Amino acid sequence: MRAFEFHRASADPHALLAQLAAQTAPENTQFLAGGTTLLDLMKLDVMQPEQVIDINALDTSDLGEIRLDGDGLYLGAMIRMSEAADDIQIREQFPVISQSLDLAASPQIRNMASLGGNVLQRTRCSYFRDTSYEACNKRKPGSGCAALEGFNRAHAVLGTSDQCIAAYPGDFAQALMVLDATVDILSATGQRRIRFAELHRAPGATPHLEVNLAAGEIISGFRIPPSPFARRSLFLKIRDRESYEFALASAAVAIDRDGDRLQQVRIALGGMAAMPWRAREAEAILAGQLADDDLFRRAADAAFAAAQPRRHNAFKIDLGKRTLIRALQQAMAMEI
Ligand SMILES: Cc1cc2nc3c(=O)[nH]c(=O)nc-3n(C[C@H](O)[C@H](O)[C@H](O)COP(=O)(O)OP(=O)(O)OC[C@H]3O[C@@H](n4cnc5c(N)ncnc54)[C@H](O)[C@@H]3O)c2cc1C
Ligand code: SF4
Repeated sequence: MRAFEFHRASADPHALLAQLAAQTAPENTQFLAGGTTLLDLMKLDVMQPEQVIDINALDTSDLGEIRLDGDGLYLGAMIRMSEAADDIQIREQFPVISQSLDLAASPQIRNMASLGGNVLQRTRCSYFRDTSYEACNKRKPGSGCAALEGFNRAHAVLGTSDQCIAAYPGDFAQALMVLDATVDILSATGQRRIRFAELHRAPGATPHLEVNLAAGEIISGFRIPPSPFARRSLFLKIRDRESYEFALASAAVAIDRDGDRLQQVRIALGGMAAMPWRAREAEAILAGQLADDDLFRRAADAAFAAAQPRRHNAFKIDLGKRTLIRALQQAMAMEI
């Protein structure tokens, strides 16, 4: 690990943001929330921040609160994964959220890791995490991509580019997507709000630029509006082993139905794509239709119509379709 400056932010986020804005290179700063991703990547020499700021002492309800009221659900970014997963109101009213968190990582990590850090975690592409491989456009822009011709079993089939085929690894993001969440962001100039679906960037020609956050901006929380989708929602995750493991395929689904007729369905896929992936083509097939297995199969085909398999990951397309069909079947059968 390289030398770096370590600071603990005081209670006032505005003081921290003003101090960062006054620095010449705030992009060399990383925030420490749970540290479960950041410290790993620093030890591997993949991330080399010159300054690490522990934001655990920031004293504001924006970051530390779970709130459910007429405006919907608010989740502060510093809430630990286990705290949100165990919240009884979230379990009952937003099952896709608690399930996505329950199935992510191990209990120890969930106790430590924050929701904000979770959505900002970086890919598990082994060429990205191993600096003895020179070629990785995400780690070193312009260096190439070792995964294109390498062992790419875990890599993405949707939303990739010829510069990067890494899969987005998180689970919680897919739950936020199907609930149409927004993200509150603090900066030195104030607060802004974006749709969660706009937080992550497709790799394109600049895979090193992963999110639409400026240097020094802090995610303060996530807002989930009230919706008829939330109760009938679930997260299904398929992985190589049942103990803690990242998704090979996952599907978050949320359904608004009238009897057997689907009013509207929202779908987000994990393990399959370069970023949290909303399957809008599949949603369009399902909207307004009577639910049955044939319809679900057609929706799954539509979700993967644009998939681009590589040498070792073509199996993911069939796996992804079957995961989505099963998630839809299980969501329809939920008793709420
Ligand atoms: C063995 C293992 C297995 C795992 N399995 C899974 C899994 O199956 N599913 C899954 O989803 N995840 C999994 N994870 C990832 C884990 O969930 C993340 O490491 C964790 O959620 C990151 O949160 P953190 O608070 O520790 O982030 P940190 O490591 O503290 O920070 C991560 C990044 O986010 C930035 N950051 C943190 N908070 C903020 C904020 N509020 N505003 C702006 N920037 C911020 C930091 O600067 C840093 O760049 C696994 C991790 C490990 C080690
Ligand atoms: S897939 Fe992306 S992260 Fe992995 S080696 Fe290629 S450029 Fe790097």
